[in-house]
Amino acid sequence: MGRSSKDKRDIYYRLAKEEGWRARSAFKLLQLDEEFGLFKGVKRAVDLCAAPGSWSQVLSRKLRGKEEKSEEVKIVAVDLQAMAPLPGVTQIQGDITKISTALEIIRHFEGQPADLVVCDGAPDVTGLHDVDEYIQAQLLLAALNITTHVLKPGGTFVAKIFRGKDVTLLYSQLKIFFSSVTCAKPRSSRNSSIEAFVMCQNYSPPVGYVPNMSNPLLDHSYDVDFNQLEGPNRIIVPFLACGDLSAFDSDRTYPLQLDASKEYKYTPPTQPPIRPPYQQACQLRKNNLLAKEDSPSLPLDEALSNMDI
Ligand code: SAM
Repeated sequence: MGRSSKDKRDIYYRLAKEEGWRARSAFKLLQLDEEFGLFKGVKRAVDLCAAPGSWSQVLSRKLRGKEEKSEEVKIVAVDLQAMAPLPGVTQIQGDITKISTALEIIRHFEGQPADLVVCDGAPDVTGLHDVDEYIQAQLLLAALNITTHVLKPGGTFVAKIFRGKDVTLLYSQLKIFFSSVTCAKPRSSRNSSIEAFVMCQNYSPPVGYVPNMSNPLLDHSYDVDFNQLEGPNRIIVPFLACGDLSAFDSDRTYPLQLDASKEYKYTPPTQPPIRPPYQQACQLRKNNLLAKEDSPSLPLDEALSNMDI
């Protein structure tokens, strides 16, 4: 059965189900917080590329905490996709590369800047590593761009990064805006993955910098051999593993019964996705309307109208 069996999926996947997180990524943000104390004094936070919402769940639970604190806390979650509602989180279904999204965030904060911006954005992976790394880098720059519109001086920006061969250029770009940039790898992020997180602290844009969505960072007209940055242009960013050694290793397989005193019980997903892309195919299969090799298939609209939904 190996890893295809539901309950043998990785340990953080199982823990996420047990603890009610919408995705295993919740542990990455929790472990980053353990190391950097991300949430201290944060009242306004933005979660870019938030769906299905486990990072927003962490923000909601950590920042709002007790009822009496929840009034002053504002959290905005942005994603291209809709996500199920969460207490104290305002959702914007939008694109982080658009100025309209930045303006909507600012409107929600009534003109006040954010204390923290987090971004776990990832494009659909193609499997072509160079292409994936390039698109991920562009998404990170788009997140940085939008962050320059909404983050307060001194604020923190956390974003997913792929540690590919051109990562030095990204570090240099981030260092223009933040006095401290660290690359962190939480224990819940698989060793086998090139994913890590940049922890950018103390937002301090260059004097006279005016936030602009058509930022020169995204303009490729300059001619630099990215991988050859030398001397002061080459920024060495410290690398930090987060999550203490007692944390579960995401690349290991654990037995189902983790605690000898408690019998293992399967926990179903807390909240299924609201409109998963495979929903239509599942409905067609349930109604035995999927096209078969040996029988003519119905046109899709006819099949859908025959469906028992
Ligand atoms: N942090 C999330 C969580 O914990 O549930 C998981 C985020 S998921 C890995 C990446 C998300 O990035 C996807 O939901 C995708 O829709 C979103 N995304 C990708 N490009 C985007 C864009 N240009 N604007 C907004 N969201 C985007």
